[in-house]
Amino acid sequence: MTKPFSFSQSSLQDYADCPRRFRLRYIDQLSWPAVESEPVVENERRQQEGQLFHRLVQQHLLGLPADKVARLANTPNLERWWENYLAADLGIYGDTKFTELTLSAPLGEHRLLAKYDLVAIEPGGKALIIDWKTYAKRPRDEWMSARWQTRVYRALLAQAGSHLNGGKPFAAEQIEMLYWYADFPSEPARFKYTSAQFKRDWPAIEKAAGEISSAKDFRMTEDEKMCRFCVYRSYCDRGTQAGAMDEAETEMESEAAFDVNFEQVGEIEF
Ligand code: SF4
Repeated sequence: MTKPFSFSQSSLQDYADCPRRFRLRYIDQLSWPAVESEPVVENERRQQEGQLFHRLVQQHLLGLPADKVARLANTPNLERWWENYLAADLGIYGDTKFTELTLSAPLGEHRLLAKYDLVAIEPGGKALIIDWKTYAKRPRDEWMSARWQTRVYRALLAQAGSHLNGGKPFAAEQIEMLYWYADFPSEPARFKYTSAQFKRDWPAIEKAAGEISSAKDFRMTEDEKMCRFCVYRSYCDRGTQAGAMDEAETEMESEAAFDVNFEQVGEIEF
């Protein structure tokens, strides 16, 4: 493993789901030409549309007029998501907005990075992390709550977000995370944060990073359901047929899909 290694919610989640997947993806950097879920064409199209939707929202938040952005929403999915986005009231009009924000913090001899779709900061100091999701199926809140993304995004903002808060670290209670589902606009998932959770999350992130960096045996997951939605399943001899998209708890999101080049991201001091 390269040192320092840039951990992210995706790599921590990959290790939690299957240590072998972590090894193949981040250490061996093995590209494997298999699809993650069926139907292939629809899945790929949806992933591309999801990336474009993120760009449209970002452009709009950066000040491009909605009617200009709307011209780019030129497929039925994009058109629907865009209309849902415009109609949504997320209560962030007066907030200071940081789009595509990257935060980083040291993690032992490694580091932790996260790229946020949007962090909206109220004048009074509340920080709302918003993540746009274009999933075809709305995941259960309990499932999202346990994902590394939910834990990492809130913890990293508490740990490394002081420059967004006049030089003072955010108290965990000021932080909230909201997943906004483009196909379920009236059912966002909100996760408040507490100091007790932060006290658990940060050491848990450090522990996971330490465990991964000293791991010798990147074993295959025993939960073979994971393999049905994994690109490496033929490499691992865990089947050739991709799982159906509507059976997955949620679609895969790779870091590559959102152009995060962590090696080019400067460390932000905290
Ligand atoms: S196919 Fe299964 S065992 Fe192989 S990397 Fe993917 S999840 Fe792990």
